[in-house]
Amino acid sequence: MFELPSKIKNYINGEIVEPISKNYFSNINPSTGQEYSVVADSDKADVELATQAAIQAFPEWSTLPHQKRFEYLMKIAELIDKKMDYLAYAESIDNGKPLKLAKRVDIPRASANFRFYATAILHYYSQAHINERTSFNYTFKQPIGVAGCISPWNLPLYLFTWKIAPALAAGCTVVAKPSEITPMTAYLLSEIGIEAGLPKGVLNIVHGYGHKVGQSIIEHPKIKAISFTGGTKTGKTIASTAAPMFKKLSLELGGKNPNIIFADCNYDKMIKTTIQSSFANQGQICLCGSRIFVERKIYDKFKNDFVEKTRSLKVGPPLNEDTQIGAVVSEQHMNKILSYIELAKQEDGTILCGGNRKILDTPYNSGFYIEPTIIEGLHYTCRTNQEEIFGPVVTITPFDTEEEVITMANSVEYGLSATIWTENLTRAHRVAHQLESGIVWINTWLNRDLRTPFGGMKASGVGREGGFKALDFFNEDKNICVDLS
Ligand code: NDP
Repeated sequence: MFELPSKIKNYINGEIVEPISKNYFSNINPSTGQEYSVVADSDKADVELATQAAIQAFPEWSTLPHQKRFEYLMKIAELIDKKMDYLAYAESIDNGKPLKLAKRVDIPRASANFRFYATAILHYYSQAHINERTSFNYTFKQPIGVAGCISPWNLPLYLFTWKIAPALAAGCTVVAKPSEITPMTAYLLSEIGIEAGLPKGVLNIVHGYGHKVGQSIIEHPKIKAISFTGGTKTGKTIASTAAPMFKKLSLELGGKNPNIIFADCNYDKMIKTTIQSSFANQGQICLCGSRIFVERKIYDKFKNDFVEKTRSLKVGPPLNEDTQIGAVVSEQHMNKILSYIELAKQEDGTILCGGNRKILDTPYNSGFYIEPTIIEGLHYTCRTNQEEIFGPVVTITPFDTEEEVITMANSVEYGLSATIWTENLTRAHRVAHQLESGIVWINTWLNRDLRTPFGGMKASGVGREGGFKALDFFNEDKNICVDLS
């Protein structure tokens, strides 16, 4: 057990400060449904202060030798690792996710993000084009200026750092906003920034609501690039403001990902991973495979085994060692998920297991728990199969042919990720090529190499994060041409 701060404040110009309004709102622990801290209710004026600090810091930070920026980022990574248990505890309390998941995935990946971009900047290079004896061009990568980074609540520190680390490595200064629903580890990152000796104003973190703080970041004329991860609807609002201002935009949005299972798959590996890809983090990972398509030959066997394994998943308090499914992030989100289960019933779906809120013993009896839920019998075009639910709810649907499953998989407006299970290598590639997804996994799931492009097609986003692509995003190319004649 650790003691967590009771007041989440802003980090502006190297200092932890109160919001100008002095107003705060409740921060709820989803495992108990009770307030456990308060969050700065910042607004436009705080974003202005943060942006001015970032503008001041930019000339020095952007011209610092890469080696120096590497050292700062490595120091932050080391501090995250040193505080691993504390940060994992904070993430679990703030978000409702099982503590052991936060320890295994969220926090290690947050320090990995800093380490990866600390080293990436040392290997980042410019291109040159030489015209024999006539001219010589080199393309200079110039940090774009102040970057705005806005992240969601499902993988709070992990996704926050996935934006901040490349922005800082590239030489940008940052005004960042975590989700107001899960601000705790972002606040703890401010303390780490101070401990790491990050120069004043290089990283600024402003807490508060999306429509106030988020919108002010998007609208600020001096913030040149916006890196956003969140829902597709919010992405549209952001694009409508930022695009006419000619800001650079990276949008990582929602998903409704297919998990395609052929009869010739490695069955044991598939079923174990499918439990993960369906219910990890209570199904609140943008990459979860919520539409499961199973070749008819093995449909009944799969259904029986999958339901049995899902029923045995332990729903419980996130801090308990044996908990596999924790709380969903908020009451509002819980009600949204439950309303989709009701919709599935109206659409003539059959609930094979789960389907209800789960009430635990005190002190967790007001927490936001939902039984992992499997639904069958729905047409692939119905709303349950088309809209993002973002909870521990999956549908299962049989298919007969490759063509049929590709049509069903591609029928949604989203195109983030897909998983294919087959031992037939030719078919695996053939199907992968026809799927409208930015990321396709064959016989695996959530297998990430930080060097690869990450992002979605269609309504799942615009642009790619990861590897040098993120460094490119936070830089602008300037071509310089020298006459050699
Ligand atoms: P939201 O879109 O509701 O919020 C994301 C962030 O944007 C939050 O910090 C939010 O603040 C802020 N925000 C809200 N309104 C505005 C605005 N007008 N201007 C600027 N910022 C704003 O998403 P959720 O937090 O609900 O996250 C879940 C969504 O994120 C799902 O759709 C999921 O698929 C997607 N996601 C996508 C990923 C990807 O890589 N493609 C990865 C992870 C999640 P506040 O919380 O205060 O509203």
